[in-house]
Amino acid sequence: MPQDNLIKLECADCHKINYHSNRNKKTIKAKLELQKYCRHCKKHTHHKETK
Ligand SMILES: [Zn+2]
Repeated sequence: MPQDNLIKLECADCHKINYHSNRNKKTIKAKLELQKYCRHCKKHTHHKETK
């Protein structure tokens, strides 16, 4: 099912869920960590994968 690969990206500063993404767990083993804009912090912050 597609939902199996659905992940959330959480701001490391405010811990709000800002993005949803997909990850194929069979091919990508590492957790996603991205620099993305957080509208709560009003700046680019580190976002990490969370459940
Ligand atoms: Zn934030």
